Amino acid sequence: MIRINENYQKLKSSYLFADIARRVEKFQKDNPHREIIKLGIGDVTLPLPLACVKAMHQAVDEMAISSTFRGYGPEQGYGFLRQAISDSDFRSRGAAIDPDEIFISDGAKCDTGNIQEIFDANTVVAVTDPVYPVYVDTNVMAGRTGNFQDGRYQGLVYLESTRENSFIPDLPETPVDLIYLCYPNNPTGAVITRDELARWVEYAMKNKALILYDAAYEAFIRDPELPRSIYEIDGATQVAIEFRSFSKTAGFTGTRCAFTVVPRNCRAYDRQGREIMLHSLWNRRHSTKFNGVSYPVQKAALAVYSKEGQQQVLTNIEYYLGNARIIREKMEKLGFECTGGINSPYIWINGNKDSWSFFDDLLNKAGVVCTPGDGFGLCGKGYIRISAFNSLENVEKAMHRIESAL
Ligand code: PLP
Repeated sequence: MIRINENYQKLKSSYLFADIARRVEKFQKDNPHREIIKLGIGDVTLPLPLACVKAMHQAVDEMAISSTFRGYGPEQGYGFLRQAISDSDFRSRGAAIDPDEIFISDGAKCDTGNIQEIFDANTVVAVTDPVYPVYVDTNVMAGRTGNFQDGRYQGLVYLESTRENSFIPDLPETPVDLIYLCYPNNPTGAVITRDELARWVEYAMKNKALILYDAAYEAFIRDPELPRSIYEIDGATQVAIEFRSFSKTAGFTGTRCAFTVVPRNCRAYDRQGREIMLHSLWNRRHSTKFNGVSYPVQKAALAVYSKEGQQQVLTNIEYYLGNARIIREKMEKLGFECTGGINSPYIWINGNKDSWSFFDDLLNKAGVVCTPGDGFGLCGKGYIRISAFNSLENVEKAMHRIESAL
């Protein structure tokens, strides 16, 4: 008898986006002439930078000629892209990451979801609350948690991110093995300082733990004092794996390219307590289960690092950050406490009321869609997330409507 993986039965159904869609649909039906502005989704709206489009076209042309055609590429990614990432994203910031420590993939979602496969089933996992749900659900699927009860999975350690700790959680009170951190954070928009990040690296070293550092939004960091990579912290290569993505950096959400850094000296332990290097484990997993990102897409990603590409990417990031500034300033002017929106595309807003009531107010009174914070965890109760991924025109219109309505 074929049996299912029972862990899947533990998964809490994600009602969040279905619930949002249902409420929006009802509103639209009741108000067919009112235009809705969606500031809820974390998807980019600007098209690909021209440098990337040109490079992709050129690469497609190469695939049409037998002398330049390419079949399967290296699963870890082409050397040209890994070298550019090593030079531009890491070495230029004093982080000695070599090309062969970089694994090109089709998404930070897949990588942050798949990485847990290389760790023991009894690993004690810590996540922040609120949290990007992929970290939680993939550990539920793998059987590292108990049931979902009172809003949380038993067996997971939740690190609370609240206004009291400025949305940077305290170190765990009980020992943990694996810690998921994400800065700039989705959904809170909070950023972490060098000193704060150093405390986590020190914790991981002392406790033989490992940090999974999701830096999918690092391109939004404009403050030069803030770390853009965990490897800017001394010793981090031993105790941290970092995830990056071209999705939000360069509008690749529909094109798909990302990468994960597993330094050669990054370690975990076997049953006997012997140090095992994670690079070879991840390399084995990646090359067994992944075929590599297509050549035209990797060429497009390489173009992000060209002079032209850097300028175009920066223009797009500044555009979204301009939207974020408008949202934050307006909401603060209306008396709401906000986090994020500076060095981050997300604004986390304390509504001083139930998240869904706040959501309904914005929808029914202003025709604006946001994301209720409690969909990201218990600590999101009372908050909403507004995203800066939209046109300036829509953001201005939405803020004007909110100001008139509230
Ligand atoms: N990590 C975080 C925190 C995200 O918010 C997202 C996407 O929204 C991802 C990873 C996924 O990135 P990708 O598009 O590369 O899969």
